[in-house]
Amino acid sequence: MTAVPLIFEAPRRGRPPRHLADLDPAERRAAVADLGERPFRADQLSRHYFGRLEDDVTRMTDVPTAARHRLAEALLPPLLTLVRNVDCDGGATRKTLWRGADGTLIESVLMRYPDRVTMCVSSQAGCGMACPFCATGQGGLTRNLSTAEIVEQVVAGARWLARGEVAGGPGRVSNVVFMGMGEPLANYGRVLSAVRRLTDPAPDGLGLSQRSVTVSTVGLVPAIHRLAGEGLAVTLAVSLHAPDDELRDTLVPVNTRWKVAEVLDAAWGYVGATGRRVSIEYAMIRDVNDQPWRAELLAQQLRGRLVHVNLIPLNPTPGSRWDASTPAAQEEFVRRLVDRGVATTVRDTRGREIAGACGQLAAVDPSPLS
Ligand code: SAH
Repeated sequence: MTAVPLIFEAPRRGRPPRHLADLDPAERRAAVADLGERPFRADQLSRHYFGRLEDDVTRMTDVPTAARHRLAEALLPPLLTLVRNVDCDGGATRKTLWRGADGTLIESVLMRYPDRVTMCVSSQAGCGMACPFCATGQGGLTRNLSTAEIVEQVVAGARWLARGEVAGGPGRVSNVVFMGMGEPLANYGRVLSAVRRLTDPAPDGLGLSQRSVTVSTVGLVPAIHRLAGEGLAVTLAVSLHAPDDELRDTLVPVNTRWKVAEVLDAAWGYVGATGRRVSIEYAMIRDVNDQPWRAELLAQQLRGRLVHVNLIPLNPTPGSRWDASTPAAQEEFVRRLVDRGVATTVRDTRGREIAGACGQLAAVDPSPLS
């Protein structure tokens, strides 16, 4: 065996500590009671955390000092430590690298537009889906994030906005997309709880509208069916990337388990149950999936459905053998879809120059960016 010098101590991977945001309101009251405090203290903590976005325990002055510290220690432990922020687009895009209590690294991205602010959050550290064009997919899965670790990414963005720390003045998070690292439906329970924390009215949660939350999936069919039965109005995005099984088997390996037709059936089931328009994500990869005949096959499968295609110019990842489609191929692809009555838009590539764009999040290198 070759001796490899140990430069970095391997981080310990473990369960993140319990946090207020892991719990629903009844569980919070029970947790507070377990600590020997009156249950209404749970509502006070919720108001500070979700309502006022407070992160300084000493400012929670409606709770007596001793109780405050005991409660904060038990229910507001630090979960994510900021490693670094990288801004671009004049400060309207911010990619953040976080370190979990066990050393796990994850990323989130804040994107400010004239009419909205979207937080792109991670649901897992790494990802087990192994899509070959995605940076996160290359490293495998480290672990699931806890509900509170997911919520914290949004709360952090909300704090920066509330305090006017993001270019454009004070603001609020309006949208959340589960399009950071990980496959959200492979961490189903925690992601669902996170959606509830994000959308429960303040002060129980952050009070975002369900419609402004998008859960993006490779197409885990049983989990899509389950999501359809939750009574939520969140937007479902399905990462299709190919209309035919032969190619999709290679681009989205889970397709060997659930085929294009099954994934789309599940998506139409979601439309039927929720009345929500489904998004189909399609990364445009030069000479791989961008041929006119594939646009036509895709149109055939989607025509007449409550659906919208989101084309994402491929963000080539380091060492990738693939490139983005040419503008001409992309235009032709869009034209064929639109001509056949399928609503289609091309996603902007915010954060591209800071490796903060779709599929580029791969928190493997904690060294400072040059
Ligand atoms: N696991 C979820 C979330 C992944 S990230 C899912 O697969 O949907 C969100 C989107 O970015 C997915 O559609 C994903 O396929 C896409 N993506 C990943 N890598 C990309 C890349 N290098 N270029 C463009 N889009 C990419």
